[in-house]
Formats: sequence, structure tokens, C-alpha cells
Amino acid sequence: MANKKKYEFMDTEFPAGKFLICPQCQEYISYIDIESFPNCPFCNYHLGNDPELEDFVLQPLIERWSRQFRSRGF
Ligand SMILES: [Zn+2]
Repeated sequence: MANKKKYEFMDTEFPAGKFLICPQCQEYISYIDIESFPNCPFCNYHLGNDPELEDFVLQPLIERWSRQFRSRGF
């Protein structure tokens, strides 16, 4: 297998965000969908543990936190 990336991601402008493309059913999966349960909500494909996926899930949370801190004047 010559695939350099295990997972494919898609950036969208509306709604603004990043989506994971399911390797099995090609549906777009939001980080919210896999935040607590790392399976594809459409075909139940198990996404497994992967640094790319961790970044995908954590990045929006980090951005949300930093926005909250900024709005509180920290
Ligand atoms: Zn799927």
C-alpha cells in the first residue's frame, strides 16, 4: 500500500469547519460525532486511534477554549 495518509479530511466554509471523510462509506464526519465514540455514525466503521484523528478532534476544542478565555479577559 502506497497510501501516505490513513485518513482524508475536508475543509468546508459553510458550515465552517473540518470534516473527516470516512474511509469506508465516504460520508463526512464531524469531530463532534467522534468526540465520544470513535466510530463512523453512518456505517459504524471503527476509526481507531491515530494522531491525525486526535488532532482533528482536539483542535476545535482548543480553539473553543482559547476563545472563551479571551472573551473573559484572560
Ligand atoms: Zn462510514
